Amino acid sequence: MPDERFRQLLEAAPDAILQVDEEGRIILMNRVTEEMFGYAREELLGHPVEVLIPEELRNAHIGHRAHYRTRPSTRAMGTGLALEGLRKDGSRFPVEISLSPASSQEGFHATAIVRDITERKLADDRFRAAQEQYTQKLAETNRELELRSRELERADRLKSEFLASMSHELRTPLHTIIGFSELLGEELEGPLNEKQKRFIQHIHKDSMHLLDLINDILDLSKIEAGRLELRPEPFHLTAMVTESISSVRALAEAKSIALETRLDVPMAIEADRLRVKQVLVNLLSNAVKFTPEGGRVSVEAGLRGTFVAISVTDTGVGIPPEEHASIFDKFYQVGATTKGVREGTGLGLAITRRLVEQHGGSIQVESQPNRGSRFTFTIPLRKQEQKAKA
Ligand code: ADP
Repeated sequence: MPDERFRQLLEAAPDAILQVDEEGRIILMNRVTEEMFGYAREELLGHPVEVLIPEELRNAHIGHRAHYRTRPSTRAMGTGLALEGLRKDGSRFPVEISLSPASSQEGFHATAIVRDITERKLADDRFRAAQEQYTQKLAETNRELELRSRELERADRLKSEFLASMSHELRTPLHTIIGFSELLGEELEGPLNEKQKRFIQHIHKDSMHLLDLINDILDLSKIEAGRLELRPEPFHLTAMVTESISSVRALAEAKSIALETRLDVPMAIEADRLRVKQVLVNLLSNAVKFTPEGGRVSVEAGLRGTFVAISVTDTGVGIPPEEHASIFDKFYQVGATTKGVREGTGLGLAITRRLVEQHGGSIQVESQPNRGSRFTFTIPLRKQEQKAKA
């Protein structure tokens, strides 16, 4: 390459480029080298390259140089360690160096390209500082959130405990009201006129409704406070289904609703009998409640792996698909279906689902408006599976 073009190439580079001979003396350099290190060309040419290196590293550098000569290889930028350059005025700055060997008639030469990475390091440091600050803030926010969620949990537990004790206090006087209104209604203490009889019936009916509500709230708060314990025992499924059906038979007969069963299950399962019955009775009374005169309600049970699946199907008003998820929420009632049927708490399905899930099972609904509904829940056949699931 003609000298002039080589010079141009050298001077056009944004980095300091220098060449050193076998003894480590600088034999070639560009203008950037002068600017970067603050020396004039004649102050460097012919001098050991070590003047450009901080003093404590010079001896080591001489060793490196000797080693490099015996095993020369090209080393790219950024593959070296964190290095520093030394300016004439004694100040230091971070550099990145790439090395390549070159031999000529004059012997072994090494070419070094030196890049001042002050700016990049500053940017890196700023980035790292920002990142650290961000991480710290995130950790703080997490801590706060955790604290708040613990407070919420505590408040929720206190609320449930309050409800549980309140419900208990409320039931006692209510039983008195129910008991005495029944006594009055029986007219053993003397005859009542028609109006008085009607009044007593109202008192009795609404007291019973209040009792249902309180019982539901008590159940739900117990479940939510984690204080509802299941008492699993082996029992006969068929007998339990028959009992549940007889508890809604009077209501069904009053509306001429046919009750059917199709059971194809093992005789015994192991679960909390009373609670499973409560689930089934809840579903059955909803089915009867939301099915018009002359309809049909059926119970089916069958095996599904290690679970028993029980479904209650009705030919009632049905539930729009967009309501399917909400009906299992506390106090939720579908506006359209409950128009005619107001007695209810909106707690039944919330309790039902929790009871099923506490057993390790699940509950689903399939329903279309005016086409009826089908609620299906599963319960593990054996207690061990219930525990494993929970
Ligand atoms: P409720 O005491 O009102 O029956 P639930 O939690 O048992 O409370 O049910 C919530 C709502 O889901 C009901 O108010 C009703 O709108 C709807 N629903 C439940 N079961 C049926 C069903 N078999 N057919 C139609 N709608 C139903």
